[in-house]
Amino acid sequence: MKIKRVTLYQVEQTLKSPFISSLEKVENRESIIVELKDEDGHTGWGEVVAFSSPWYTEETIKTCWHIITDFLVPLLCSRKIHHPSEVKELFNSIRRNNMAKAGIETAVWDLYAKRQGTTLSEIIGGKKSVIESGVVVGMNDPDKMIAKIGLHIKEGYKRIKVKIKPNQDYEVIKLIRHHYPDVPLMVDANSTYSLSDINRLKALDEFNLLMIEQPLGVDDIIDHAKLQSVINTPICLDESIVSYEDARKAIELGSCQVMNIKIGRVGGLTEAINIHHLCKSHDIPVWCGGMLEMGISRAHNIALASLENFTIPGDISSTSRYWDHDITEPEVEVKNGFIPVPTTPGIGFTVNRQRLDEITKKKLVITYD
Ligand code: MG
Repeated sequence: MKIKRVTLYQVEQTLKSPFISSLEKVENRESIIVELKDEDGHTGWGEVVAFSSPWYTEETIKTCWHIITDFLVPLLCSRKIHHPSEVKELFNSIRRNNMAKAGIETAVWDLYAKRQGTTLSEIIGGKKSVIESGVVVGMNDPDKMIAKIGLHIKEGYKRIKVKIKPNQDYEVIKLIRHHYPDVPLMVDANSTYSLSDINRLKALDEFNLLMIEQPLGVDDIIDHAKLQSVINTPICLDESIVSYEDARKAIELGSCQVMNIKIGRVGGLTEAINIHHLCKSHDIPVWCGGMLEMGISRAHNIALASLENFTIPGDISSTSRYWDHDITEPEVEVKNGFIPVPTTPGIGFTVNRQRLDEITKKKLVITYD
């Protein structure tokens, strides 16, 4: 396929309720939607999941716009592509900027699957017809968190994740366990602890948590290995894993027992699939993390999570959890904790162009002959 037209939409939507983690409060979600068109008129969609400020990784919406328009699009359109896995190689001359790369690369995957007339899940080797869904509860007043968790359990979510930070951990989890002793529960620390907090983290062992996600440094795999050797709760790595090589080294060191795979963080679907296969061969279960995303990224996540080693419910929730009107149709709806994997070609969702226009703040069309 030869990409002839790239359209970028910088969009902004307000979340139904602000999302609060230890690092940031997100109320308005900006994103870049990528639309690719090939020489035969097929269309592929991608979504850049970087945030407006660099609190999660170093990338932002502005840096992604710059990298995509000045570097990635010229590379993408410089030659014919026979398979989406070639895009990773094509972008190798650009260091990191993984979310910018993933926004484009995932659109190529969607386009390729549509050209083949098959689903994205099938193209990447997905085996599941439904995926299990979990949900994240942001930091809040403990009583509100308890009420919210109760609501999500009633909605059928298979796993609850709560954000923690020093001084907002043991007591909160104790209270949640008091109300919900058996719910599959995990915590995400977003790198707010250090090795000097070992006793504080060890104390969480009594709550039978599924895992503790990313307690230590965003770029660390050494201290995580030390921590894992003294706590019983499985460590899951998120921010530390930005490539297949990171995953390989973390497994070799024993830095984690679980891995969170995010397509944007690792630079695309190809790298995400490779990490999945690596983890499977080492009996490391994986799950798909969320980025407060809109429908296109959610659709790519559903396809990824249909791979067989995604044995832990991910952060893939109902559309209505975040948005009044999303840009894709039909809405993703969690029923009894499950989301069906679409059966129509590509990502399996249609983009509502009217809604996309409504939330577009800036648009750029780049054409190539
Ligand atoms: Mg995380």
